Amino acid sequence: DETPDPLLRTGVVVQTLLFGLLGIGTTFTQDGPTEGLGTVLTYAVCISTIPVARIMSKAEFGMDWWSRRAPVNNWFVVYCELGVTVVTATYADPLAALQGAMLLALVGAYAAHFARPKVIWFHVVWSTVYMLVLGYSALAKTPTDAVSVVLRVVVAITVINGAVTLLSAFSRAVLHSSRVHLSDAMTDPLTGVLNRRGLEARAVGAGNDPVRPALLLIDIDHFKAVNDHHGHSAGDVALRLTAMRLTMSAGRHATVSRLGGDEFVVLVPDPTPTLGEFAERLRQAVHNVADDIPITVSVGAALPQVDPRSTRTVFDRTLAAADEALYRAKRNGRNCVALARPPGDIVH
Ligand code: GH3
Ligand code: MG
Repeated sequence: DETPDPLLRTGVVVQTLLFGLLGIGTTFTQDGPTEGLGTVLTYAVCISTIPVARIMSKAEFGMDWWSRRAPVNNWFVVYCELGVTVVTATYADPLAALQGAMLLALVGAYAAHFARPKVIWFHVVWSTVYMLVLGYSALAKTPTDAVSVVLRVVVAITVINGAVTLLSAFSRAVLHSSRVHLSDAMTDPLTGVLNRRGLEARAVGAGNDPVRPALLLIDIDHFKAVNDHHGHSAGDVALRLTAMRLTMSAGRHATVSRLGGDEFVVLVPDPTPTLGEFAERLRQAVHNVADDIPITVSVGAALPQVDPRSTRTVFDRTLAAADEALYRAKRNGRNCVALARPPGDIVH
């Protein structure tokens, strides 16, 4: 499981609390709220940072923290946006408010990584409009130095939108490349089907699924001889063809993977019409007399081995059962299917 860096969590909590303290600090200055309602609002927002910091310190990001799906992140961004706006809106001096509202850049930086695109757009539109409103009221109050006010507003808008733009572009690029790498790491480069790591990831995923897949272990017969007589690259072609034919024949509900060497695993949630006939179909699909090198395979097939007495996972037990069946298929002369014995019968 991926959990966020402790520094991220600490940073979010400390900055949230710091914002509350800063807000309370302004009520003791000339910048801060001058009338009763403003002070009440400021205190309300600042005190609310304590429970919010607490929520963020315990928030369950889980696997979702980098995939922008955790709703708590989206709500946190909206909260910060409104909080900074409410507190700075109570300022008597719009230019001081403009400076305080620069904190929205920090909110944007958080949103860029952890919020949904909709929320990022909310941040961009909200903060830009707010900067323009502050600039407008500053101009209304001190129309003497219009250029200075305009420049300050432009700087504020640039900082706030620049931070969110650069960081969200960076975040998307990192996310994309990590997805590509993850997919590469789980793919067998020779055949394009899943490799052992991909199969195990799929099997772990299927562990949460109430429907456990049946498992077929498929091994090419006398494959060493193919390499010896026709060369390694002809062997590679045969492996690619085998993977392709298994994929075509197993159907879209099945998962085909290459365990290594000349061994393939097919996971299938509901082998139809029966496991034996499904296995037989795969065996026949791989063989083609018209091939330059017509290969045959032996298949060991096992239904999910649910055995509460064993500490091993269902996947491990099912794989072991299929392996035992494959061994029998090889001993029975190869180019055939063997079904695993029911759980409990297997001698280890
Ligand atoms: P059996 O019928 O008992 O399975 O006999 P076999 O000759 O197929 O024996 P085994 O399954 O042990 O042989 C696997 C062979 O697969 C050994 C190795 O040379 C070959 N092999 C493993 N990986 C590759 C590969 O990536 N490309 C090629 N061309 N051959 C490979
Ligand atoms: Mg073999």
